[in-house]
Amino acid sequence: MNKELPGGVKVVVIGGGVTGCSTAYHLAKFGWKDTILLERDQLTSGTTWHAAGLVSQLGPSAGITKIRKYSLELYKKLEKEIDFSSGLKLNGALSIATTQGRWQELKRQATTAQLYDVNVEVLNIDQIKKIYPIINEQNILGGIFMPGDGQADPIGVTNLLAKAARKEGVKIFEKSPVEKILKKNGKVFGVIVDGKNY
Ligand SMILES: Cc1cc2nc3c(=O)[nH]c(=O)nc-3n(C[C@H](O)[C@H](O)[C@H](O)COP(=O)(O)OP(=O)(O)OC[C@H]3O[C@@H](n4cnc5c(N)ncnc54)[C@H](O)[C@@H]3O)c2cc1C
Repeated sequence: MNKELPGGVKVVVIGGGVTGCSTAYHLAKFGWKDTILLERDQLTSGTTWHAAGLVSQLGPSAGITKIRKYSLELYKKLEKEIDFSSGLKLNGALSIATTQGRWQELKRQATTAQLYDVNVEVLNIDQIKKIYPIINEQNILGGIFMPGDGQADPIGVTNLLAKAARKEGVKIFEKSPVEKILKKNGKVFGVIVDGKNY
């Protein structure tokens, strides 16, 4: 537990997974430099540690597609700026449909992706077999291929965002479990960490 936590900061981000590190980075990037991040154990010790790391640009809605595309571009940009690898490997991703409902969903997602300039190819079974020759073609109605998708190392992505956040002025404290969020008149005014009010 770090005993040197600063008091009176503007924002306390609780949790050093990929979401917390990204939130802290963006807050500082857009001006809220007086932000700290508190992680109960160590960065990536939550769900982020278990993630397979698939990075897909296609989402079930326009908003999610936009966020995913932005995230991928951000990781590429930060890798250059910070000179730190997030383990990105963009080998492309193939999604297939074996039911009419799924096929309809994939085609709808492909249309949405095109609206946001995400490169996507709608494929028939012959085209799918060219990309993945050993596929069992039984019941396959079609598929979509996203050449710009791939995978990343979730721990690498989180540390990349943490480094970028620190560069923007965020202070990150590990071994700092938040025990309570303090509120007054419906507003958050502090936290309790290791029995002390901040
Ligand atoms: C098996 C598996 C595979 C996955 N595969 C993928 C994938 O391929 N692609 C994909 O995009 N997503 C995938 N996910 C989902 C992805 O891992 C999660 O959506 C993501 O990691 C959530 O991040 P988070 O920062 O919200 O949560 P977490 O990583 O859980 O971070 C929360 C953090 O908060 C800390 N914390 C909790 N309580 C406190 C407290 N009181 N005080 C201080 N700190 C606290 C925890 O220690 C933890 O570090 C997968 C998930 C799993 C389990």
